[in-house]
Amino acid sequence: MNILITGGAGFIGSHLCKLLVERGDRVICVDNLITGFKKNIENLTHKDNFKFIEHDVSKSLYIKEEIDWVYHLASLASPKHYLNYPIKTLKSGLLGTHNCLGIAKNKKAKFLLASTSEVYGDPLVHPQPESYWGNVSSTGLRSCYDESKRAAESLTYAYMRKHLVDVRVARIFNTYGPNMHPDDGRVVSNFITQSLKEKDITIYGEGTQTRSFCYVQDLIEGLIKLTEVDYKAPLNLGNPREFTIKQLADMVLAETKSNSQIKKLPLPEDDPKRRKPDISKAKQLLNWQSTVPLEQGLQKTIDYFKSVLSIES
Ligand code: NAD
Ligand code: UDP
Repeated sequence: MNILITGGAGFIGSHLCKLLVERGDRVICVDNLITGFKKNIENLTHKDNFKFIEHDVSKSLYIKEEIDWVYHLASLASPKHYLNYPIKTLKSGLLGTHNCLGIAKNKKAKFLLASTSEVYGDPLVHPQPESYWGNVSSTGLRSCYDESKRAAESLTYAYMRKHLVDVRVARIFNTYGPNMHPDDGRVVSNFITQSLKEKDITIYGEGTQTRSFCYVQDLIEGLIKLTEVDYKAPLNLGNPREFTIKQLADMVLAETKSNSQIKKLPLPEDDPKRRKPDISKAKQLLNWQSTVPLEQGLQKTIDYFKSVLSIES
């Protein structure tokens, strides 16, 4: 198949590019490298079935090749980055999604949107099923991300209804693993790099807020399975095992055998208090669930960061 992946030089996108190239698909990766890195795809650039285009998807994009699938992942994704670039985040979600849907429509390609658990905001329903409409501030600091993804979902369904584009919407929950950037600012990469460098572990608030962490290989498998079924409604993909941020800090400290101390910093505005996916739909529809336990995934991620930071085991 001919597959266009936007955001393919980023964390999740680079794993997807690798898997599809190895599977024998022809992959075109479009990325403006705002948070992605050529290093993430350096093992692919010499392959005949891989092409990289440096481009901002919020600007028009002309692709001459035939395309069977568009996987639209391009977006600022870490709170640190989207709070720094709120307008670029909105433009990727709105204009970028519009442009990518336009490509799917013109090429008669199928379209997969990488949406997010953030569409549920600071949820009042726990765990979150796909039927929950969310508790999102349209004006708060995180709204640039939450609302752009909600609008991206809306655009996706408008193209499905109006132009009959065949769509998939994956609502991805917190995912971690190799190829995350050490300065990404998300909790797993922060805690691991801080521990490995024996720096203070920064817990925002009291660390009682929860997240459910999915290893990237599990997530990629779920995304691929979603493209293999005819299911157009949004689908949660994530690991339902829920941890407090304090528990995560303790696990990282134990696994890295670090002497870092915990330092509490103010909780960011609108930081969701609890998050855990209800994945019954994915289980039933895709026969999928995450299989890598956090302890194991953390160890693989720690090993990756050790090599990136050149720290001896
Ligand atoms: P990432 O920052 O590592 O990757 C995003 C990629 O998109 C980067 O390579 C970046 O350079 C690129 N990009 C951003 N704006 C662009 C633009 N306008 N034009 C072209 N490229 C652009 O983040 P990630 O964690 O790999 O996230 C990938 C996707 O998955 C995002 O859409 C994100 O919202 C979604 N998602 C991720 C998580 C997670 O926990 N990692 C959770 C929910 C949703
Ligand atoms: N967090 C933290 N310390 C950090 C980074 C994040 O305590 O150094 C907390 C953050 O406040 C949130 C959780 O960890 O409650 C997950 O944050 P992340 O940025 O990874 O993703 P989010 O789920 O908030 O989008």
